Amino acid sequence: MTTLRIILWDIDGTLLHSGGAGQTAIVRTARELHGQELSLQDLDYRGRTDSLIVRQIFSRFQIPWFEENVARFRNRYLQHLRDEISRSPGRVLPGVERLLCAIQERAGWRQGLLTGNFEHGARIKLDHFGLGRFFSFGAFGDRSECRNELARSAMTLLRQQWGESLAATQVFLIGDTPHDVLCAQAIGAYSIAVATGGYCLSELAACRPTMLLPDLEQFEPVLALVKGHS
Ligand SMILES: [Mg+2]
Repeated sequence: MTTLRIILWDIDGTLLHSGGAGQTAIVRTARELHGQELSLQDLDYRGRTDSLIVRQIFSRFQIPWFEENVARFRNRYLQHLRDEISRSPGRVLPGVERLLCAIQERAGWRQGLLTGNFEHGARIKLDHFGLGRFFSFGAFGDRSECRNELARSAMTLLRQQWGESLAATQVFLIGDTPHDVLCAQAIGAYSIAVATGGYCLSELAACRPTMLLPDLEQFEPVLALVKGHS
């Protein structure tokens, strides 16, 4: 019998670079809705959930944390994101599309998303770069501000879909930041770190991922890891 294996992907810095579309959309939203000039240096957004980024902005500018304000910010951000991404110089990262295809072809392997992006934002980015077709499920930043919490909710979703006996050791997370590695560790899953985002190899090595790669151009070790475990 084929053992089920689940590969969960981060988006920004792992599957693709949005060419700054996400950050620009946030800056435009803060300016338009709240008259605030946001500097991205003020925000630590790498590996953070969209919900947490919005929380940081609201806190910084003392905007009342009402659901109505949050929803308004999110909706406007998504409109700006759609607009920005259409003129973005972004790209799919090396090897990604071939690895997505290779995973898709394996019997018993499933791939989904574990991303801090709002679900709608994730779809905008993936569809723009032609990657949406690879993903039918995922855990998104709407669910929680905390990435470890997001990983736990991903496990709950996976077990609802594939049964309570699904072990964390059947799950493999691919991401570009220490937050991705730490949230994999938080649920007992394997972590594959790639230095294609905002962190270099030595910074990622410090959080001891299961596997560390400069990029996904040579992805055979990833397939070997997933095949050899669980
Ligand atoms: Mg990322």
